[in-house]
Amino acid sequence: MTEMDAAPRLPRIGLFIDGSWVEATSGKTIPVFNPATEAQITEIAAASVEDVNRAVEAAHRCFESKAWKRMRPLDRGRLLEKLALVVEENADELAHLETLDNGKPFATSRYVDLAFTIDALRYFAGWASKTAGEYITLSPFFDDGGVYRAYTERRPVGVVGGITPWNFPLGQAIQKIAPAIAFGCTVVLKPSEETSLTTLRLAELIEQVGFPKGAVNIVTGYGHDAGAALVEHPLVRKIAFTGSTATGQRILASAAKTMKRVTLELGGKSPTIILADADLSRAIPGAANAIFGNSGQVCTAGSRLLVEEAIYDEVVAGVAEIAKGLRLGPGHEQNTQLGPIVSARQLERISSLVEGGIAAGATPLAGGARSDRQGWFFEPTVLTGIRPDMEVLREEIFGPVVCAMPIKSFGEIKAIANDTPYGLGASIWTRNLDRAHMLADEIDAGTVWLNTHNILDLAVPFGGSKLSGLGREFGTEAINAFTETKAVCMRLSDDS
Ligand code: NAD
Repeated sequence: MTEMDAAPRLPRIGLFIDGSWVEATSGKTIPVFNPATEAQITEIAAASVEDVNRAVEAAHRCFESKAWKRMRPLDRGRLLEKLALVVEENADELAHLETLDNGKPFATSRYVDLAFTIDALRYFAGWASKTAGEYITLSPFFDDGGVYRAYTERRPVGVVGGITPWNFPLGQAIQKIAPAIAFGCTVVLKPSEETSLTTLRLAELIEQVGFPKGAVNIVTGYGHDAGAALVEHPLVRKIAFTGSTATGQRILASAAKTMKRVTLELGGKSPTIILADADLSRAIPGAANAIFGNSGQVCTAGSRLLVEEAIYDEVVAGVAEIAKGLRLGPGHEQNTQLGPIVSARQLERISSLVEGGIAAGATPLAGGARSDRQGWFFEPTVLTGIRPDMEVLREEIFGPVVCAMPIKSFGEIKAIANDTPYGLGASIWTRNLDRAHMLADEIDAGTVWLNTHNILDLAVPFGGSKLSGLGREFGTEAINAFTETKAVCMRLSDDS
């Protein structure tokens, strides 16, 4: 047995509320499976509405406490720095746990998920002491001889409800927790019921670091009850959500009742666009990586491959060859390149969309079905013969499946690329700077990459247009997402 085979220590199971571990009041649990073997690993607590209410009240008490309100911004940053340090010290163990729970290859867990998580903690630690307002000289519409001034400040919105998906569990949790704490909010976070283990381990580390009680609360549970309760609670002032468009729409409707602030990071159907003059030695592996990385379970996955006709056959054959050569296997095996799909339900969804596409006339150049090995594996798939109306082209699949389409002229790229209700990401591969920037201007997406795909950096605001979401996280725009502007106006008198 190698170190890679060793089962990681499981985290404490329960709800982390007000700095303590408690059982779910309902006593209900949710089974947790290893997607590589389909075997049950453990079970987690299913928080009830009552549990969520207690967590929100704890977060609210902490938010209103003098100790929290008066904590120096630098000291909030220091909490995040300390957490970064202990996450870093436990990075291997956390990565093993993620691979066990989510299925992704250990190298992805360790050098993508954990690397991002640690960076995000440090990035937002720096922000804690850098919010500032403005000082404004007023021009009142009446002139009463007074001198008027105003200043603005950025106030934390209050209790933040964070709700996360299963594809990058730890990174997503920190993406909500770190800016909330940096900007002076408190948090109740509900991780995905599919992958809660690393977030529970994170709660143990938050306890170890000594965050004030109630500053961060973690409640595991289902979306339709625990998640919905968080969205409905009047003391939650903001929801930071990442997940599917359908859930995002439900959250937006529900949040309207209490006029909560929301940021929604939702689904996508992002195009990888390869122009005839591209460097194919980079574009072909780039296109394959854009869709097969993390087994396609990436919101910005390059799931539509749009290629200029002159190089279409060469590109599609190249991506198919890479797909056929990828080694599927459990994430803990050292040579695995593609892990399993997170759940039986998600595997079923991918299978049914691909079967529907093939029945409608698409041709698989690679893959096209679930793998016959044990576990929830789907073969990396390249589909050709795609028509614009096909469901497999229009729906987000969230699996290792790319639909390839030839493009006849440069002029039609914009229309084809934008022919989707989503607008999350896009990549353009070309050596022609003019064409690259002309197209980048035209594509309706939150992020456009040139000669690369899926590069996320915490300094660059990230989010989607159209059905891909609302608002931006990361970068300077994170300030808007977690704070509210308050203006204080004054009349200065020189009567004295
Ligand atoms: P999902 O919407 O099913 O679940 C996401 C979270 O929402 C889970 O924690 C779930 O329990 C919760 N939830 C479900 N119903 C709820 C409700 N009614 N009220 C409150 N919470 C509820 O999404 P998923 O299947 O876990 O994740 C995959 C989706 O996430 C894909 O569509 C993908 O594109 C998207 N995603 C987007 C980004 C991004 O940054 N734009 C990143 C990762 C994933």
